[in-house]
Amino acid sequence: KEADVKPARVREIGVAAQGVVETETGLVAWSPAFAGRKIPIVNPLQSAFGAECYISNDTNMITEALHWSDPNRYSGTFAVIMLDYGVGMGLYLDNHLFSGASGTAAEFGHANHIPGGALCRCGKKGCLEAYLSDYALVRAATHQPEDTDPITIKAGVGGLARLIELAGSGDENAQKAFHEAGRVLGYGIARVIAMIDPKRVVLTGAAMRAFSFMEKGMWEGLEEALVADLRNNFSLDVMPWNEDFIRSGLIAQSMERLDKDFLGTATPQGSRAARTDGKEVPA
Ligand SMILES: [Zn+2]
Repeated sequence: KEADVKPARVREIGVAAQGVVETETGLVAWSPAFAGRKIPIVNPLQSAFGAECYISNDTNMITEALHWSDPNRYSGTFAVIMLDYGVGMGLYLDNHLFSGASGTAAEFGHANHIPGGALCRCGKKGCLEAYLSDYALVRAATHQPEDTDPITIKAGVGGLARLIELAGSGDENAQKAFHEAGRVLGYGIARVIAMIDPKRVVLTGAAMRAFSFMEKGMWEGLEEALVADLRNNFSLDVMPWNEDFIRSGLIAQSMERLDKDFLGTATPQGSRAARTDGKEVPA
């Protein structure tokens, strides 16, 4: 409606969701955005609108958008970590977005950090997310026990913003929570580097506004966790949060499918880059 496009002219609907998204079956297997599990998204939208529908993980779309907007900088092998409501990851391996066999790859946030550790929103204990996400930071800063149910913790964008304010005004509990989260992030990045040897690691998400409070801990954690020979070959980008990246990634994927339909094959990288040179991407 906003774009003044008639429903009959909609060719494709792209959906980006946070959480564990099965691109192959069109389901959100599990997401903090839904109370239930295995929520079908693609089929209901397809039958309601009569258009093709695709679903992707939100951080994967940021990863795709980065590649399209600056293929020289973001190509080959790189990882995007989004610290926000949850903890997401997008992986670009050998010039391809990697989504695994069922489309749920790179669930960085739910890789275990400490066996039997802090309670995660997914129900397991010790996930990276249980130390890094908004509720984890609020739980740590307010000295609540590690097994406090994330649902009962008042966090979210507002909670995170308050915590950043507190840390900025010198509050030691808030500063310590960010510092410790930074250390956990460093350990997490160390594992990613050890596994895939990325050229670049990109950090983004709402929590990046607190990066100055996390940075020292992050480098400490990374140094403790990984030998110098392995960790000295990557660059770190810290990107301020911009929701438009998710939309750009969806459009990029859609355009690639369109190319394939017309040409029977994907276009070479150079021409893809040229198409996204301007701000306006035809939708
Ligand atoms: Zn988890």
